[in-house]
Amino acid sequence: MNCSYCKKEMKKEADSYTNFGTVLDLEPPEPVLLCEKCVRDEIAFWLELGVMPNHWIMAKYEKALADKLGYIRCGEHEYVRWKKLKL
Ligand SMILES: [Zn+2]
Repeated sequence: MNCSYCKKEMKKEADSYTNFGTVLDLEPPEPVLLCEKCVRDEIAFWLELGVMPNHWIMAKYEKALADKLGYIRCGEHEYVRWKKLKL
């Protein structure tokens, strides 16, 4: 398999997430697979923006990222979103 971002070959993905599909999709979206380097880059990117990504199926890194940025998970099922805690 290959990293969805840098296309590097890897034995197993370091992390993965799945985007929301659209009404035009015939099949559910494919998961995005990330190598270790791209996971680090991705976390750094969101940390710099200070917001959470919004994925249909969340990546493993998102829980730790949410703790750092002060977000909590709210909502149910497919409507789950990240919510910023007021400081
Ligand atoms: Zn990569």
